[in-house]
Amino acid sequence: MTSVLIIGAGIGGLAAAARLAYNGYQVTVVEKNARPGGRCDQLVLDGHRFDTGPTLFLMPEVFAETYAALGQRMADHLDLRRIDPTYRVRFPDGTTLALTSDLNAMQAQLEAIEPGSFGGLLRYLVEGHRHYTLSLQKFVGRNFYSLLDYFSPANLPLLFQVKALQKHYANVGQYFQHPYLKAAFTFQNMYLGLSPYDAPATYSLLQYTELADGVWFPMGGLYRVIESLAKIATNLGVHFVYNAPVRQIEVSGNRATGIALEDGRRLPADVIIANADLPYVYDRLLPDRAAAERLNRLQFTCSAIMFYWGVDKVYPQIGHHNVFLAGDYQASFARIFRDNTLPDEPSLYVHAPARTDPAVAPPGQDTLLALVPVGHLDDRQPQDWDALRARARAATLARLADIGVTDLEQHLKFEISYTAEDWQRLYNLARGAAFGLSHDFWQVGYLRPHNRHDRYRNLYFVGSSTHPGTGLPIVLLSAKLVVERIRQEQPRPAGQPSVF
Ligand SMILES: Cc1cc2nc3c(=O)[nH]c(=O)nc-3n(C[C@H](O)[C@H](O)[C@H](O)COP(=O)(O)OP(=O)(O)OC[C@H]3O[C@@H](n4cnc5c(N)ncnc54)[C@H](O)[C@@H]3O)c2cc1C
Repeated sequence: MTSVLIIGAGIGGLAAAARLAYNGYQVTVVEKNARPGGRCDQLVLDGHRFDTGPTLFLMPEVFAETYAALGQRMADHLDLRRIDPTYRVRFPDGTTLALTSDLNAMQAQLEAIEPGSFGGLLRYLVEGHRHYTLSLQKFVGRNFYSLLDYFSPANLPLLFQVKALQKHYANVGQYFQHPYLKAAFTFQNMYLGLSPYDAPATYSLLQYTELADGVWFPMGGLYRVIESLAKIATNLGVHFVYNAPVRQIEVSGNRATGIALEDGRRLPADVIIANADLPYVYDRLLPDRAAAERLNRLQFTCSAIMFYWGVDKVYPQIGHHNVFLAGDYQASFARIFRDNTLPDEPSLYVHAPARTDPAVAPPGQDTLLALVPVGHLDDRQPQDWDALRARARAATLARLADIGVTDLEQHLKFEISYTAEDWQRLYNLARGAAFGLSHDFWQVGYLRPHNRHDRYRNLYFVGSSTHPGTGLPIVLLSAKLVVERIRQEQPRPAGQPSVF
Protein backbone atom coordinates (compact mmCIF):
# COMPACT_ATOMS: atom_id res chain seq x y z
CA MET A 1 0.00 0.00 0.00
CA THR A 2 1.31 3.51 -0.78
CA SER A 3 2.30 5.21 2.45
CA VAL A 4 1.57 8.90 2.90
CA LEU A 5 2.95 11.14 5.66
CA ILE A 6 1.14 14.41 6.33
CA ILE A 7 2.88 17.18 8.25
CA GLY A 8 0.19 19.02 10.19
CA ALA A 9 -3.36 18.27 11.37
CA GLY A 10 -4.96 21.55 10.31
CA ILE A 11 -8.26 21.27 8.43
CA GLY A 12 -6.28 20.79 5.20
CA GLY A 13 -4.20 17.94 6.62
CA LEU A 14 -7.24 16.27 8.16
CA ALA A 15 -9.36 16.42 5.02
CA ALA A 16 -6.51 15.18 2.82
CA ALA A 17 -5.77 12.36 5.28
CA ALA A 18 -9.38 11.20 5.40
CA ARG A 19 -9.81 11.35 1.61
CA LEU A 20 -6.60 9.38 1.00
CA ALA A 21 -7.46 6.74 3.60
CA TYR A 22 -10.92 6.42 2.05
CA ASN A 23 -9.15 5.72 -1.24
CA GLY A 24 -6.94 3.00 0.18
CA TYR A 25 -3.73 4.84 1.08
CA GLN A 26 -1.95 4.19 4.33
CA VAL A 27 -1.83 7.56 6.07
CA THR A 28 0.06 8.94 9.07
CA VAL A 29 -0.42 12.52 10.26
CA VAL A 30 2.33 14.11 12.34
CA GLU A 31 1.30 17.25 14.27
CA LYS A 32 3.44 19.51 16.44
CA ASN A 33 0.59 20.36 18.81
CA ALA A 34 -1.35 18.15 21.22
CA ARG A 35 -4.57 18.11 19.16
CA PRO A 36 -5.81 18.60 15.59
CA GLY A 37 -7.20 21.83 14.13
CA GLY A 38 -4.28 24.20 13.61
CA ARG A 39 -5.70 27.70 13.27
CA CYS A 40 -9.22 26.28 13.63
CA ASP A 41 -8.51 25.63 17.28
CA GLN A 42 -10.57 25.90 20.46
CA LEU A 43 -10.01 27.11 23.98
CA VAL A 44 -12.12 25.80 26.85
CA LEU A 45 -11.79 27.53 30.21
CA ASP A 46 -14.06 27.74 33.25
CA GLY A 47 -17.19 26.76 31.32
CA HIS A 48 -16.43 29.12 28.39
CA ARG A 49 -15.77 27.63 24.94
CA PHE A 50 -14.06 29.77 22.30
CA ASP A 51 -13.27 29.10 18.65
CA THR A 52 -9.86 30.77 18.62
CA GLY A 53 -9.60 31.33 14.84
CA PRO A 54 -12.46 30.89 12.35
CA THR A 55 -15.95 31.86 13.49
CA LEU A 56 -17.74 32.09 10.12
CA PHE A 57 -18.96 28.93 8.42
CA LEU A 58 -19.43 29.89 4.76
CA MET A 59 -20.06 27.93 1.55
CA PRO A 60 -21.83 24.98 3.23
CA GLU A 61 -21.97 23.10 -0.09
CA VAL A 62 -18.18 22.69 0.00
CA PHE A 63 -18.24 21.22 3.52
CA ALA A 64 -21.10 18.91 2.47
CA GLU A 65 -19.06 17.70 -0.52
CA THR A 66 -16.15 16.80 1.79
CA TYR A 67 -18.36 14.69 4.05
CA ALA A 68 -20.01 13.06 1.01
CA ALA A 69 -16.61 12.19 -0.48
CA LEU A 70 -15.91 10.30 2.77
CA GLY A 71 -19.17 8.38 2.60
CA GLN A 72 -20.77 10.54 5.29
CA ARG A 73 -23.65 12.99 5.63
CA MET A 74 -22.75 16.43 7.00
CA ALA A 75 -26.05 16.53 8.91
CA ASP A 76 -24.95 13.49 10.92
CA HIS A 77 -21.91 15.41 12.18
CA LEU A 78 -22.86 19.10 12.31
CA ASP A 79 -25.96 20.79 13.68
CA LEU A 80 -25.82 23.93 11.54
CA ARG A 81 -27.79 27.10 12.36
CA ARG A 82 -28.11 29.97 9.93
CA ILE A 83 -27.10 33.36 11.38
CA ASP A 84 -29.33 36.10 10.00
CA PRO A 85 -28.74 39.04 10.18
CA THR A 86 -25.26 37.89 9.28
CA TYR A 87 -23.51 40.87 10.86
CA ARG A 88 -24.37 44.05 12.63
CA VAL A 89 -22.11 46.64 11.02
CA ARG A 90 -21.56 49.82 12.99
CA PHE A 91 -19.89 53.06 11.88
CA PRO A 92 -18.25 55.58 14.25
CA ASP A 93 -21.18 58.06 14.01
CA GLY A 94 -23.60 55.40 15.24
CA THR A 95 -25.05 54.43 11.86
CA THR A 96 -25.75 50.71 11.86
CA LEU A 97 -26.57 48.23 9.17
CA ALA A 98 -27.80 44.69 9.83
CA LEU A 99 -26.77 42.70 6.76
CA THR A 100 -29.51 40.17 6.08
CA SER A 101 -30.93 37.97 3.36
CA ASP A 102 -34.34 39.56 4.09
CA LEU A 103 -34.42 41.82 1.03
CA ASN A 104 -37.23 44.01 2.36
CA ALA A 105 -35.21 44.79 5.47
CA MET A 106 -32.14 45.43 3.31
CA GLN A 107 -34.08 47.78 1.06
CA ALA A 108 -35.28 49.91 3.97
CA GLN A 109 -31.81 50.15 5.51
CA LEU A 110 -29.92 50.84 2.27
CA GLU A 111 -32.37 53.43 0.96
CA ALA A 112 -32.10 55.32 4.29
CA ILE A 113 -28.34 55.63 3.76
CA GLU A 114 -28.30 56.21 -0.01
CA PRO A 115 -31.53 56.59 -2.01
CA GLY A 116 -31.50 54.24 -5.01
CA SER A 117 -28.82 51.98 -3.56
CA PHE A 118 -31.05 48.92 -3.21
CA GLY A 119 -30.99 48.54 -7.00
CA GLY A 120 -27.19 48.69 -6.71
CA LEU A 121 -27.27 45.83 -4.22
CA LEU A 122 -29.34 43.64 -6.55
CA ARG A 123 -26.91 44.28 -9.42
CA TYR A 124 -23.95 43.68 -7.10
CA LEU A 125 -25.40 40.33 -6.06
CA VAL A 126 -25.84 39.33 -9.70
CA GLU A 127 -22.15 40.08 -10.26
CA GLY A 128 -21.24 38.22 -7.04
CA HIS A 129 -23.19 35.18 -8.21
CA ARG A 130 -21.32 35.20 -11.53
CA HIS A 131 -17.97 35.52 -9.74
CA TYR A 132 -18.88 32.77 -7.29
CA THR A 133 -19.96 30.17 -9.81
CA LEU A 134 -17.24 30.89 -12.38
CA SER A 135 -14.50 31.00 -9.74
CA LEU A 136 -15.59 27.79 -8.08
CA GLN A 137 -15.95 25.88 -11.34
CA LYS A 138 -13.08 27.27 -13.35
CA PHE A 139 -10.39 28.54 -10.96
CA VAL A 140 -10.73 27.53 -7.35
CA GLY A 141 -12.17 24.05 -7.88
CA ARG A 142 -9.52 22.69 -10.27
CA ASN A 143 -5.81 22.04 -10.56
CA PHE A 144 -3.66 23.92 -13.06
CA TYR A 145 -0.71 21.94 -14.40
CA SER A 146 1.06 24.61 -16.46
CA LEU A 147 1.08 28.32 -17.24
CA LEU A 148 -0.42 27.52 -20.64
CA ASP A 149 -3.21 25.65 -18.93
CA TYR A 150 -3.94 28.74 -16.76
CA PHE A 151 -3.67 31.34 -19.51
CA SER A 152 -5.26 29.08 -22.12
CA PRO A 153 -7.54 30.64 -24.76
CA ALA A 154 -10.49 29.11 -22.87
CA ASN A 155 -9.41 30.49 -19.50
CA LEU A 156 -8.15 33.95 -20.40
CA PRO A 157 -11.58 35.54 -21.04
CA LEU A 158 -12.75 34.14 -17.70
CA LEU A 159 -10.10 36.18 -15.86
CA PHE A 160 -11.83 39.28 -17.22
CA GLN A 161 -15.32 37.95 -16.50
CA VAL A 162 -14.45 37.53 -12.81
CA LYS A 163 -12.74 40.95 -12.81
CA ALA A 164 -9.46 39.44 -11.61
CA LEU A 165 -7.54 42.53 -12.73
CA GLN A 166 -9.81 45.12 -11.09
CA LYS A 167 -9.62 46.17 -7.45
CA HIS A 168 -12.56 45.32 -5.24
CA TYR A 169 -13.02 48.76 -3.66
CA ALA A 170 -12.89 50.59 -6.99
CA ASN A 171 -15.35 48.12 -8.51
CA VAL A 172 -17.92 48.46 -5.72
CA GLY A 173 -18.21 52.12 -6.73
CA GLN A 174 -20.22 50.95 -9.74
CA TYR A 175 -22.97 49.88 -7.35
CA PHE A 176 -22.86 52.25 -4.36
CA GLN A 177 -21.70 55.84 -3.86
CA HIS A 178 -21.99 56.22 -0.12
CA PRO A 179 -18.71 55.37 1.65
CA TYR A 180 -20.60 53.40 4.33
CA LEU A 181 -22.14 51.11 1.75
CA LYS A 182 -18.87 50.72 -0.10
CA ALA A 183 -17.30 49.70 3.22
CA ALA A 184 -20.18 47.41 4.23
CA PHE A 185 -19.83 45.48 0.98
CA THR A 186 -16.04 45.17 0.92
CA PHE A 187 -14.89 44.75 4.54
CA GLN A 188 -15.35 40.96 4.17
CA ASN A 189 -11.95 40.93 2.40
CA MET A 190 -10.52 41.34 5.88
CA TYR A 191 -11.43 37.84 6.85
CA LEU A 192 -9.24 36.63 4.03
CA GLY A 193 -6.59 38.95 5.46
CA LEU A 194 -6.76 41.27 2.43
CA SER A 195 -7.32 44.95 1.82
CA PRO A 196 -10.26 45.72 -0.50
CA TYR A 197 -7.97 48.31 -2.10
CA ASP A 198 -5.64 45.48 -3.24
CA ALA A 199 -7.96 42.46 -3.49
CA PRO A 200 -9.37 41.55 -6.92
CA ALA A 201 -12.99 42.54 -7.56
CA THR A 202 -13.60 38.79 -7.88
CA TYR A 203 -14.20 38.80 -4.14
CA SER A 204 -17.68 40.27 -4.52
CA LEU A 205 -18.40 36.52 -4.47
CA LEU A 206 -18.07 36.73 -0.68
CA GLN A 207 -20.98 39.14 -0.20
CA TYR A 208 -23.02 37.03 -2.58
CA THR A 209 -22.41 33.73 -0.81
CA GLU A 210 -22.99 35.26 2.63
CA LEU A 211 -26.39 36.63 1.70
CA ALA A 212 -27.49 33.89 -0.72
CA ASP A 213 -25.99 30.70 0.78
CA GLY A 214 -25.83 32.05 4.32
CA VAL A 215 -23.46 32.44 7.23
CA TRP A 216 -23.80 29.39 9.47
CA PHE A 217 -22.74 28.26 12.90
CA PRO A 218 -22.27 24.61 13.90
CA MET A 219 -23.72 24.15 17.39
CA GLY A 220 -20.80 23.59 19.73
CA GLY A 221 -18.61 25.79 17.54
CA LEU A 222 -16.38 25.57 14.49
CA TYR A 223 -14.15 23.08 16.28
CA ARG A 224 -16.92 20.51 15.76
CA VAL A 225 -15.80 20.40 12.11
CA ILE A 226 -12.28 19.47 13.22
CA GLU A 227 -13.48 16.88 15.74
CA SER A 228 -15.73 15.20 13.20
CA LEU A 229 -13.08 15.10 10.45
CA ALA A 230 -10.49 13.72 12.89
CA LYS A 231 -12.96 11.04 14.00
CA ILE A 232 -13.85 10.06 10.43
CA ALA A 233 -10.15 9.91 9.52
CA THR A 234 -9.36 7.75 12.55
CA ASN A 235 -12.22 5.38 11.69
CA LEU A 236 -10.79 5.12 8.18
CA GLY A 237 -7.46 3.99 9.66
CA VAL A 238 -5.44 7.24 9.68
CA HIS A 239 -2.78 7.18 12.35
CA PHE A 240 -2.25 10.47 14.24
CA VAL A 241 0.94 11.35 16.06
CA TYR A 242 0.63 14.45 18.25
CA ASN A 243 3.29 16.51 20.05
CA ALA A 244 5.63 15.60 17.20
CA PRO A 245 7.18 18.68 15.54
CA VAL A 246 8.89 17.91 12.23
CA ARG A 247 12.44 19.28 11.96
CA GLN A 248 13.21 18.43 8.36
CA ILE A 249 11.88 16.85 5.17
CA GLU A 250 14.57 14.45 3.96
CA VAL A 251 15.32 14.46 0.22
CA SER A 252 17.44 12.50 -2.20
CA GLY A 253 17.75 13.47 -5.86
CA ASN A 254 14.31 14.44 -7.05
CA ARG A 255 12.41 12.68 -4.27
CA ALA A 256 11.40 13.38 -0.72
CA THR A 257 12.26 10.23 1.20
CA GLY A 258 10.82 10.92 4.65
CA ILE A 259 10.84 13.25 7.61
CA ALA A 260 12.98 13.79 10.67
CA LEU A 261 11.23 14.78 13.90
CA GLU A 262 12.64 17.18 16.48
CA ASP A 263 13.04 14.23 18.87
CA GLY A 264 15.37 12.48 16.41
CA ARG A 265 12.95 9.90 14.99
CA ARG A 266 13.06 9.46 11.20
CA LEU A 267 10.02 8.27 9.27
CA PRO A 268 10.12 7.14 5.64
CA ALA A 269 7.16 7.51 3.25
CA ASP A 270 6.29 7.10 -0.43
CA VAL A 271 4.44 10.41 -0.51
CA ILE A 272 4.70 13.44 1.79
CA ILE A 273 2.10 16.20 2.09
CA ALA A 274 3.01 19.38 3.95
CA ASN A 275 -0.02 21.01 5.56
CA ALA A 276 2.15 23.34 7.67
CA ASP A 277 2.22 26.87 6.22
CA LEU A 278 3.95 26.59 2.82
CA PRO A 279 6.46 29.49 3.14
CA TYR A 280 7.50 28.08 6.54
CA VAL A 281 7.99 24.62 5.00
CA TYR A 282 10.29 25.95 2.26
CA ASP A 283 12.15 28.12 4.75
CA ARG A 284 12.58 25.67 7.64
CA LEU A 285 12.01 22.11 6.48
CA LEU A 286 13.55 22.02 2.96
CA PRO A 287 17.14 22.60 1.82
CA ASP A 288 16.68 24.98 -1.17
CA ARG A 289 17.43 28.53 0.08
CA ALA A 290 16.73 30.19 -3.28
CA ALA A 291 13.13 28.90 -3.34
CA ALA A 292 12.63 30.03 0.26
CA GLU A 293 13.95 33.51 -0.59
CA ARG A 294 11.63 33.77 -3.59
CA LEU A 295 8.65 32.93 -1.40
CA ASN A 296 9.78 35.42 1.20
CA ARG A 297 9.40 38.18 -1.38
CA LEU A 298 5.70 37.41 -1.93
CA GLN A 299 2.84 39.35 -0.36
CA PHE A 300 1.44 38.01 2.91
CA THR A 301 -1.99 38.53 4.48
CA CYS A 302 -2.36 40.54 7.67
CA SER A 303 -2.23 39.21 11.21
CA ALA A 304 -4.78 39.62 14.00
CA ILE A 305 -4.69 40.65 17.64
CA MET A 306 -7.22 38.52 19.48
CA PHE A 307 -8.94 38.79 22.85
CA TYR A 308 -10.80 35.87 24.41
CA TRP A 309 -12.95 37.12 27.25
CA GLY A 310 -14.85 35.08 29.81
CA VAL A 311 -17.49 37.49 31.14
CA ASP A 312 -19.74 37.10 34.20
CA LYS A 313 -22.75 38.81 32.62
CA VAL A 314 -24.52 38.96 29.24
CA TYR A 315 -24.64 42.06 27.03
CA PRO A 316 -27.70 41.62 24.79
CA GLN A 317 -26.67 44.56 22.58
CA ILE A 318 -23.78 42.45 21.23
CA GLY A 319 -25.10 40.21 18.44
CA HIS A 320 -23.58 36.95 17.22
CA HIS A 321 -21.32 38.70 14.64
CA ASN A 322 -20.52 42.40 15.14
CA VAL A 323 -18.33 44.52 12.87
CA PHE A 324 -17.14 47.97 13.94
CA LEU A 325 -15.72 49.86 10.96
CA ALA A 326 -13.18 52.67 11.11
CA GLY A 327 -14.12 56.17 10.04
CA ASP A 328 -11.09 56.52 7.79
CA TYR A 329 -11.52 53.18 6.04
CA GLN A 330 -8.78 53.62 3.45
CA ALA A 331 -6.17 54.89 5.91
CA SER A 332 -6.85 51.96 8.20
CA PHE A 333 -5.91 49.50 5.43
CA ALA A 334 -2.79 51.48 4.52
CA ARG A 335 -1.58 51.23 8.13
CA ILE A 336 -2.12 47.45 8.18
CA PHE A 337 -0.83 46.51 4.73
CA ARG A 338 1.73 49.24 3.97
CA ASP A 339 3.09 50.01 7.44
CA ASN A 340 2.53 46.56 9.01
CA THR A 341 1.01 48.06 12.11
CA LEU A 342 -2.29 48.80 13.84
CA PRO A 343 -4.42 51.60 12.36
CA ASP A 344 -4.79 54.71 14.50
CA GLU A 345 -8.51 53.98 14.42
CA PRO A 346 -8.88 50.21 13.84
CA SER A 347 -11.84 48.36 12.41
CA LEU A 348 -12.66 45.28 14.47
CA TYR A 349 -14.92 42.29 14.92
CA VAL A 350 -16.63 40.87 18.02
CA HIS A 351 -18.04 37.35 18.21
CA ALA A 352 -20.67 36.31 20.77
CA PRO A 353 -21.49 32.66 19.91
CA ALA A 354 -23.69 32.21 23.01
CA ARG A 355 -26.38 34.21 21.15
CA THR A 356 -26.87 31.08 19.02
CA ASP A 357 -25.49 28.35 21.29
CA PRO A 358 -26.03 29.10 25.00
CA ALA A 359 -23.92 26.04 25.90
CA VAL A 360 -20.67 27.87 25.03
CA ALA A 361 -20.91 29.92 28.27
CA PRO A 362 -22.12 29.18 31.81
CA PRO A 363 -25.72 30.30 32.44
CA GLY A 364 -26.01 34.08 32.79
CA GLN A 365 -22.43 34.57 31.52
CA ASP A 366 -20.84 35.31 28.16
CA THR A 367 -18.04 34.12 25.90
CA LEU A 368 -16.67 36.95 23.76
CA LEU A 369 -13.94 37.06 21.13
CA ALA A 370 -12.56 40.27 19.65
CA LEU A 371 -10.42 40.27 16.48
CA VAL A 372 -8.46 43.38 15.53
CA PRO A 373 -6.66 43.15 12.15
CA VAL A 374 -3.01 44.29 12.30
CA GLY A 375 0.09 44.10 10.11
CA HIS A 376 2.11 40.86 10.06
CA LEU A 377 5.53 40.49 11.70
CA ASP A 378 8.09 42.79 10.10
CA ASP A 379 11.79 41.85 10.48
CA ARG A 380 12.96 45.21 9.19
CA GLN A 381 10.89 47.18 11.68
CA PRO A 382 10.04 44.86 14.61
CA GLN A 383 6.81 45.95 16.24
CA ASP A 384 6.20 46.48 19.95
CA TRP A 385 3.43 43.89 20.38
CA ASP A 386 2.63 44.77 23.99
CA ALA A 387 1.96 48.36 22.95
CA LEU A 388 -0.10 47.32 19.91
CA ARG A 389 -2.10 44.89 22.05
CA ALA A 390 -2.84 47.64 24.59
CA ARG A 391 -4.02 49.98 21.82
CA ALA A 392 -6.17 47.26 20.21
CA ARG A 393 -7.76 46.52 23.58
CA ALA A 394 -8.52 50.18 24.30
CA ALA A 395 -10.02 50.62 20.80
CA THR A 396 -12.24 47.54 21.25
CA LEU A 397 -13.48 48.66 24.65
CA ALA A 398 -14.19 52.15 23.29
CA ARG A 399 -16.24 50.81 20.36
CA LEU A 400 -18.17 48.52 22.71
CA ALA A 401 -18.83 51.45 25.03
CA ASP A 402 -20.50 53.19 22.07
CA ILE A 403 -23.21 50.52 22.14
CA GLY A 404 -23.65 50.72 25.89
CA VAL A 405 -21.14 48.08 26.99
CA THR A 406 -19.42 50.39 29.45
CA ASP A 407 -18.49 48.06 32.30
CA LEU A 408 -16.91 45.10 30.50
CA GLU A 409 -13.59 45.42 32.33
CA GLN A 410 -15.34 45.06 35.69
CA HIS A 411 -17.04 41.88 34.50
CA LEU A 412 -14.07 40.06 32.97
CA LYS A 413 -13.45 36.70 34.63
CA PHE A 414 -10.33 36.21 32.49
CA GLU A 415 -8.67 37.53 29.37
CA ILE A 416 -6.42 35.64 26.96
CA SER A 417 -4.90 37.40 23.99
CA TYR A 418 -2.86 36.52 20.90
CA THR A 419 -0.67 38.71 18.71
CA ALA A 420 1.18 37.89 15.49
CA GLU A 421 3.96 36.39 17.60
CA ASP A 422 1.50 33.88 19.05
CA TRP A 423 0.13 32.92 15.64
CA GLN A 424 3.70 32.22 14.52
CA ARG A 425 4.68 30.32 17.69
CA LEU A 426 1.52 28.21 17.95
CA TYR A 427 1.16 27.06 14.34
CA ASN A 428 4.43 28.06 12.58
CA LEU A 429 2.66 30.65 10.43
CA ALA A 430 5.23 32.56 8.37
CA ARG A 431 5.36 36.19 9.62
CA GLY A 432 2.43 35.41 11.91
CA ALA A 433 0.21 36.14 8.88
CA ALA A 434 -3.12 34.76 10.07
CA PHE A 435 -4.37 33.76 6.61
CA GLY A 436 -1.11 32.74 4.87
CA LEU A 437 0.04 34.12 1.53
CA SER A 438 -2.00 36.92 0.01
CA HIS A 439 -4.39 36.55 -2.93
CA ASP A 440 -3.63 39.32 -5.39
CA PHE A 441 -3.69 38.56 -9.10
CA TRP A 442 -0.06 37.41 -9.06
CA GLN A 443 -0.61 34.96 -6.23
CA VAL A 444 -3.68 33.00 -7.30
CA GLY A 445 -4.30 30.12 -9.70
CA TYR A 446 -1.17 28.75 -11.35
CA LEU A 447 0.72 31.82 -10.11
CA ARG A 448 0.22 30.72 -6.47
CA PRO A 449 2.84 28.32 -5.04
CA HIS A 450 1.93 24.95 -6.52
CA ASN A 451 0.44 22.04 -4.63
CA ARG A 452 3.28 19.80 -5.77
CA HIS A 453 6.96 20.66 -5.35
CA ASP A 454 8.54 21.48 -8.72
CA ARG A 455 11.58 19.30 -8.01
CA TYR A 456 10.53 16.67 -5.44
CA ARG A 457 7.68 15.09 -7.31
CA ASN A 458 6.30 13.09 -4.42
CA LEU A 459 6.11 16.14 -2.11
CA TYR A 460 2.73 17.87 -2.08
CA PHE A 461 1.16 20.81 -0.25
CA VAL A 462 -2.28 21.37 1.18
CA GLY A 463 -3.57 24.45 2.99
CA SER A 464 -4.00 28.19 2.93
CA SER A 465 -0.75 29.20 1.21
CA THR A 466 -1.00 26.87 -1.77
CA HIS A 467 -3.68 26.65 -4.47
CA PRO A 468 -6.54 27.63 -4.22
CA GLY A 469 -6.12 29.70 -1.01
CA THR A 470 -7.27 30.57 2.47
CA GLY A 471 -10.48 30.07 4.48
CA LEU A 472 -11.92 26.78 5.70
CA PRO A 473 -13.99 25.86 2.60
CA ILE A 474 -11.18 26.85 0.25
CA VAL A 475 -8.71 24.72 2.21
CA LEU A 476 -11.18 21.82 1.96
CA LEU A 477 -11.02 22.32 -1.80
CA SER A 478 -7.22 22.36 -1.54
CA ALA A 479 -7.42 18.92 0.09
CA LYS A 480 -9.76 17.66 -2.63
CA LEU A 481 -7.44 18.93 -5.39
CA VAL A 482 -4.23 17.59 -3.92
CA VAL A 483 -5.78 14.17 -3.37
CA GLU A 484 -7.06 14.12 -6.96
CA ARG A 485 -3.52 14.89 -8.06
CA ILE A 486 -1.90 12.26 -5.86
CA ARG A 487 -4.35 9.63 -7.08
CA GLN A 488 -3.35 10.46 -10.66
CA GLU A 489 0.37 10.68 -10.02
CA GLN A 490 1.07 8.20 -7.20
CA PRO A 491 -1.44 5.43 -7.69
CA ARG A 492 0.78 2.35 -7.55
CA PRO A 493 1.12 0.33 -4.35
CA ALA A 494 4.71 0.64 -3.19
CA GLY A 495 6.91 1.25 -0.19
CA GLN A 496 7.14 -0.09 3.28
CA PRO A 497 4.45 0.18 5.94
CA SER A 498 4.49 3.10 8.35
CA VAL A 499 6.80 2.69 11.33
CA PHE A 500 3.94 3.47 13.73
C1 LIG B 1 -8.02 34.70 13.45
C2 LIG B 1 -8.49 33.93 12.27
C3 LIG B 1 -9.80 34.01 11.85
C4 LIG B 1 -10.24 33.26 10.77
N1 LIG B 1 -11.56 33.32 10.42
C5 LIG B 1 -12.02 32.48 9.48
C6 LIG B 1 -13.42 32.33 9.30
O1 LIG B 1 -14.22 32.95 10.01
N2 LIG B 1 -13.85 31.46 8.33
C7 LIG B 1 -12.99 30.73 7.58
O2 LIG B 1 -13.45 29.96 6.73
N3 LIG B 1 -11.64 30.84 7.74
C8 LIG B 1 -11.15 31.68 8.69
N4 LIG B 1 -9.81 31.75 8.93
C9 LIG B 1 -8.89 31.03 8.04
C10 LIG B 1 -8.78 29.55 8.40
O3 LIG B 1 -8.61 29.41 9.78
C11 LIG B 1 -7.57 28.95 7.71
O4 LIG B 1 -7.60 29.22 6.31
C12 LIG B 1 -7.52 27.44 7.90
O5 LIG B 1 -7.84 27.05 9.22
C13 LIG B 1 -6.11 26.99 7.56
O6 LIG B 1 -6.02 25.60 7.61
P1 LIG B 1 -4.70 24.89 7.10
O7 LIG B 1 -4.97 23.44 7.14
O8 LIG B 1 -4.27 25.50 5.82
O9 LIG B 1 -3.52 25.31 8.09
P2 LIG B 1 -3.29 25.29 9.67
O10 LIG B 1 -4.55 25.44 10.40
O11 LIG B 1 -2.23 26.31 9.92
O12 LIG B 1 -2.71 23.83 9.95
C14 LIG B 1 -1.36 23.50 9.78
C15 LIG B 1 -0.97 22.54 10.89
O13 LIG B 1 0.43 22.23 10.74
C16 LIG B 1 1.00 22.15 12.04
N5 LIG B 1 2.46 22.31 11.93
C17 LIG B 1 3.14 23.43 11.60
N6 LIG B 1 4.46 23.18 11.60
C18 LIG B 1 4.62 21.89 11.91
C19 LIG B 1 5.77 21.06 12.09
N7 LIG B 1 7.03 21.50 11.90
N8 LIG B 1 5.58 19.76 12.44
C20 LIG B 1 4.32 19.26 12.64
N9 LIG B 1 3.20 20.02 12.50
C21 LIG B 1 3.35 21.32 12.13
C22 LIG B 1 0.34 23.28 12.79
O14 LIG B 1 0.45 23.14 14.20
C23 LIG B 1 -1.11 23.15 12.29
O15 LIG B 1 -1.87 22.28 13.11
C24 LIG B 1 -9.34 32.46 10.03
C25 LIG B 1 -7.99 32.37 10.44
C26 LIG B 1 -7.58 33.08 11.55
C27 LIG B 1 -6.16 32.92 12.02
